[in-house]
Amino acid sequence: MGEQTYFHSVRLNKDKCTGCTNCIKHCPTEAIRVRNGKARIINERCIDCGECVRVCPHHAKEVVTDSLAALSAYKYNIALPAPSLYGQFKNVKNIGYILAAIKELGFDDVFETSVGADLVSLYIRRELRKGNKNGPLISSACPAIVRLIQVRFPELTDNIIPLRPPFEAAAMMARERWRRSHACAPEEIGVFFISPCAAKMTSVNAPIGNARSHLSGVISMMDVYGKLAAILSHQEKLTPLPVRSFAKGVGWARSGGECASVTDKDYLAVDGVFNVIRALEEIENGHLPELRFFEGQACVGGCVGGPITFENPYVARMRIDRFVERMTESGEDDHKSEPHLDDDSEMYFTEKVKPNPIMKLDEDIGEAIKKIARIEELCADLPGLDCGSCGAPSCRCLAEDIVRGYREEVDCIFKLKEKVRDLAEEMISQADREDKVRDLAEEMMSLADRMDVNKEETK
Ligand code: SF4
Ligand code: SF4
Repeated sequence: MGEQTYFHSVRLNKDKCTGCTNCIKHCPTEAIRVRNGKARIINERCIDCGECVRVCPHHAKEVVTDSLAALSAYKYNIALPAPSLYGQFKNVKNIGYILAAIKELGFDDVFETSVGADLVSLYIRRELRKGNKNGPLISSACPAIVRLIQVRFPELTDNIIPLRPPFEAAAMMARERWRRSHACAPEEIGVFFISPCAAKMTSVNAPIGNARSHLSGVISMMDVYGKLAAILSHQEKLTPLPVRSFAKGVGWARSGGECASVTDKDYLAVDGVFNVIRALEEIENGHLPELRFFEGQACVGGCVGGPITFENPYVARMRIDRFVERMTESGEDDHKSEPHLDDDSEMYFTEKVKPNPIMKLDEDIGEAIKKIARIEELCADLPGLDCGSCGAPSCRCLAEDIVRGYREEVDCIFKLKEKVRDLAEEMISQADREDKVRDLAEEMMSLADRMDVNKEETK
């Protein structure tokens, strides 16, 4: 895979992993294998969607984020709450109370990421007016979906709108506002995103489309949930902060919110990474010619369903809907002004989103065709049960690993059994040849060792 290095926020805690193989079938990019009783994540394939974090019954997959201790590195600190945070708490009168509670965590200011969403919406509308000859424009807001397109739909990378996501837009506005009002250097200001997902942590540490992020760190929503819930249980003691974003910006917290903010026709909003894959297949095959805009979100329900949120995504969505409705009906949006950036050059990607077709079998098309034929051959020979005993998610995936030179046919427990039986039969037939019998016995011993490894893997 060349010189590329990868940052991933989804990591394996080996001590907790039992090698149960639960996670392997839930990975949308077939990035997990179990070997020697432990899961492994293939870096090149992982898109940090967090599906494995959700399904691991032993909590062995973890999301690495920053802690509140990181605030001590800066003179001033600003929190950027993802709008999905607003759906996490019950009985909150309005968003201003949640903003006030966040400030109590030790921040000097709170700037809503939904203001960034409002700004990004303006730019997307502009892009939509320009149109696109090669199919629908695809939102760049969900970093897991951008990475999914790079690895599984390389042909669609040109359709991705080359715009920074809302948390980057919000970080730029927040830092600039604070710098001006406090006459300080930008480096003195820490800007921390309160995130519902791993993909945004990855996006800050290894941005796509730009060399660097405007964020100083990412704090997990799950990590601050308890403290915020405790502060909000005494809401009457808080003075609500003003809410600067429009209702539509808050609506980005759930699937369809971005579409509602940018267009009223020829759009498609899909949530859940496997549903997004099906929709992208349709787009790639040219089956949706009428589509102008596509919003895909890796998590079910959108950001409210992020793997490091606390609340049930449907409940969180209901609360977001209620906030949006109240903000719209109260007419409070009428008194707000559109967000803007004096220097908006940083709003756009400075680098092209490059395809990263890790599923490609070979650079040489002739070789790739031969490898596909070999995979088909192997698949016809493997049992087709997709049992996962070999540590790969499916028989096809094992066949691919064999063709790539990472595994052998006898890594399949059924093929191993066949091979042992064949050897035993040969031993019987060669019983009068001592040297041959010794060779066969050694081969059987090595297969028996392999069996032990496979047994470990499926424990
Ligand atoms: S689901 Fe099983 S194999 Fe996967 S990380 Fe968790 S314990 Fe390990
Ligand atoms: S985070 Fe997503 S892509 Fe990465 S290993 Fe887990 S399920 Fe696969």
